[in-house]
Amino acid sequence: MMSATAASAQPRWAIVVHGGAGVIERKDLSPEQEAAYRQAMTRVTEAGAQVLERGGSALDAIQTTIELLEDDPLFNAGRGAVFTAEGRNEHDASIMDGKTLAAGAVAGVSTIRHPIALARAVMEHSPHVMLIGSGAEGFAKARGVEQVDPSYFFTERRWRSLENFAKANNLPVPAKPKVAGAPDAAQGLAHDEGKHGTVGVVALDSQGNVAAGTSTGGTTGKRWGRVGDSPIIGAGTFASNASCAVSATGTGEYFIRLTVAREVCALVEHKGLSLQAAADEVVQKKLTALGGDGGIIAVAPDGQIAWSFNTSGMYRARAAAGQPVIVGIYKDDP
Ligand code: ASP
Repeated sequence: MMSATAASAQPRWAIVVHGGAGVIERKDLSPEQEAAYRQAMTRVTEAGAQVLERGGSALDAIQTTIELLEDDPLFNAGRGAVFTAEGRNEHDASIMDGKTLAAGAVAGVSTIRHPIALARAVMEHSPHVMLIGSGAEGFAKARGVEQVDPSYFFTERRWRSLENFAKANNLPVPAKPKVAGAPDAAQGLAHDEGKHGTVGVVALDSQGNVAAGTSTGGTTGKRWGRVGDSPIIGAGTFASNASCAVSATGTGEYFIRLTVAREVCALVEHKGLSLQAAADEVVQKKLTALGGDGGIIAVAPDGQIAWSFNTSGMYRARAAAGQPVIVGIYKDDP
């Protein structure tokens, strides 16, 4: 389903946030769960909006907002990430600067508290675009990017999802990690939106630059070092001042093959489509025809913002200069 606003007067800045798309229907969420997600989306979007209101860069707004989402166990990124079939948390993230086309990404990292911060460090402090696994963690150490024990990412609820996944797929359930510490309070409020989820932010800053960032734990029960679209520039994340900035969420295998994020921006750049028309063309038509599910958020340098998803829900929020935060979950939310 789609929804968007085309700004009547060009806003000085704008931000759009997603917290994952999937099977999210009114009947599935208790009033407390719905309130928890709406509050979380409002809180993180306001934090990003404040960065932009103070004249901060789109990149800073994205990092600030995604780090908060990575710390919140309600979402599948950072703490709250899903488990692999082997019982590990392997995080992927990427960020792209629409002004310079600089980009950074990490995949399969297990000790980085804020994978988005490491993706940004790759962009700004390495000659590369993408680092993986232990090499990426070595780079984090050298750069002083915060590392944590892998047990930091454990949540009961995601462990239960892995157990269910393993049983349904005739896979062995791995030994449960021994985790000290208090059970997470959000656990009772978290909703399982299917076997995936992701967080992402796109922003336009008051200098006229757009940027995009995405962070995820990937898909429950992933195996063999599987990497989805989220850390792949052009698939899960893309930004260019010549067109737009996009962050995606959904079954990564489809988003990779359609280079969804770049495709939306290419339709804007080369065919002159409005941002919403381009988003719908890729998500409602191409992605749906291929059998993929999920959605995207987008912003353009002229202040257009858009989102489009073909699942029953997507956690999402938007804000712009002089406009309040608007949060949506279900298809029929504004
Ligand atoms: N796109 C993510 C992946 O495939 C998962 C998601 O967004 O739901 O890893």
